[in-house]
Amino acid sequence: MSFRATVLTLYPEMFPGHLGVSLAGRAIERGDAGIEAVNIRDFATDRHRSVDDTPAGGGAGMVLKPDVLAAAIDAVSPEGDPRPRLLMSPRGRPLTQARVRALAEGPGAVIVCGRFEGVDQRVIEARNLEEISIGDYVLSGGEPAALILLDAVIRVLPGVMGNAQSGTHESFETGLLEHPHYTRPQVFEGREIPAVLTSGNHKAIEAWRQAQSLELTRERRPDLLGPED
Ligand code: SAH
Repeated sequence: MSFRATVLTLYPEMFPGHLGVSLAGRAIERGDAGIEAVNIRDFATDRHRSVDDTPAGGGAGMVLKPDVLAAAIDAVSPEGDPRPRLLMSPRGRPLTQARVRALAEGPGAVIVCGRFEGVDQRVIEARNLEEISIGDYVLSGGEPAALILLDAVIRVLPGVMGNAQSGTHESFETGLLEHPHYTRPQVFEGREIPAVLTSGNHKAIEAWRQAQSLELTRERRPDLLGPED
């Protein structure tokens, strides 16, 4: 079974983008993941092929038309398609590693990329779109957000990461940020690799990494540790 993503966008040429190389590129080549980009504009019906219109109530910018977007969604994801329908949106629930894992266990996703001011609220409701944000900042379009979501999902698909161990210790997988890493040379610009890491004492190494993880998380992301009492 492979993970199949269909991305609805006004800029299909942005896909597969960086997902065409390295780990994700090889997963796509093997057929473990598939990314199909479909142009929302192909579903416009007027002679200007318009996809957007002015906001009801006035104000700046344009809004993606619900009828055009609904037609696009219905064409790529007819009733019975088991894939969740996502809308990249700064108003969405923040993407987490847990959501990434859950998506990777499923059949794929239909991902809508917004542009302009966003999409008409009625199509979000009528097509049951789950809004997902990649962070508290505003992009000019949903495409980079979709690429980031897909990067995170494809990375955890079975068989994609060479070393299956790598992944389980990663930041967020344990609820903590990851410990620092070191590699040769032993001395770099006068800085030594922490002695414990070259001691060969696996128990001590594990304890050191755990302590570093905890300290780093306390310092940078105390929110991950939950409320203090
Ligand atoms: N007016 C909107 C922002 C629109 S940005 C607002 O204030 O909420 C245009 C499009 O970029 C959005 O429709 C969405 O698809 C995408 N986008 C922007 N920021 C994003 C983020 N942080 N996460 C996911 N998608 C985002």
